[in-house]
Amino acid sequence: MKKILITGGAGFVGSHLCERLLNEGNEVICLDNFFTGSKKNILKFLDNPYFELVRHDVTHPYFVEVDEIYNLACPASPIHYQYNPIKTIKTSVVGAVNMLGLAKRVNAKILQASTSEVYGDPHVHPQKEDYWGNVNPIGLRSCYDEGKRCAETLFMDYHHQNNVNIKIIRIFNTYGSNMNPNDGRVVSNFIVQALKGEDITMFGDGTQTRSFQYVDDLVEGMIRMMNSPNDFLGPVNLGNPNEFTMLELAETIIKLTNSTSKIIFMPLPKDDPKQRQPDISLAKEKLNGWEPKIQLEEGLQKTISYFKDILNEA
Ligand code: NAD
Ligand code: UDP
Repeated sequence: MKKILITGGAGFVGSHLCERLLNEGNEVICLDNFFTGSKKNILKFLDNPYFELVRHDVTHPYFVEVDEIYNLACPASPIHYQYNPIKTIKTSVVGAVNMLGLAKRVNAKILQASTSEVYGDPHVHPQKEDYWGNVNPIGLRSCYDEGKRCAETLFMDYHHQNNVNIKIIRIFNTYGSNMNPNDGRVVSNFIVQALKGEDITMFGDGTQTRSFQYVDDLVEGMIRMMNSPNDFLGPVNLGNPNEFTMLELAETIIKLTNSTSKIIFMPLPKDDPKQRQPDISLAKEKLNGWEPKIQLEEGLQKTISYFKDILNEA
């Protein structure tokens, strides 16, 4: 049995990771400040003796004896990470310093949840790990993008300077159950709008693309990465290479929900990337043939039924 710390464990991805690692017989400590996460996501683990919940902010040091750390703490939705940009960059940078310091002190292995945002608005398509990206350092998204880029730097430097056992994954757009209905990201927005019969808010002309990964595929990749040989540090892309325009996404969601919602067009936010698609050949090679198993319509069906349930409860 391993003792595992998950920062951001009450969030969307973190709560799925808690569940999977508990089911595999580990002891899980979930640390969260509940900025975007929710107790609802982890309610069902609270009476599990192998689960511990800690309300804490990663910008302050935290000490605990653990074998592994998954560092997920950071708001991921543009509206939430732009709400308090200084706090966002502190969470990524100071949070990384605190968690790397902890890993160094207790000799734990530590995995960083980095992001496809490190590629910015990419000039190389699809994105491979050796592409350095095209990020605006002073734009609306930079508190998140540059914070995550700096965290990657810190991970590498703690490895080279202090021998900390590190892993870096770059997550591409991921969706699924346990997303907050007010999360603000495109999949949850469109599903909630379609289920309520409200207008679908399309930013820009809808020709921009994203590649959407179902959360179970991501969690499988994260655990494989944590368990991969020590000399494989990453960064490694984890995403589903099937790429869609936002118009295609909206039309699919309208069809699957039998919705009467209409698409309305709104201004495109500044620095919104035009396209994004992962090259996952490195993950396939290094993580025992890992590749996404759940394609968009199947993943959307599962996510739609989750949102139907929570909207009915409300
Ligand atoms: P989320 O917002 O649902 O989860 C983030 C969690 O971190 C929340 O529970 C939040 O309360 C917590 N948190 C935020 N600031 C904190 C702080 N200072 N101290 C402690 N806890 C804090 O987002 P998510 O989609 O679950 O993302 C999880 C991680 O994966 C993030 O680091 C995100 O950057 C990364 N990621 C996610 C995606 C995606 O598509 N879901 C894509 C790329 C990267
Ligand atoms: N988007 C949209 N309507 C929404 C929310 C998002 O058209 O209600 C667009 C957004 O402009 C972007 C894409 O959907 O082009 C993905 O946005 P999201 O915030 O989910 O993730 P990110 O931009 O960080 O990839």
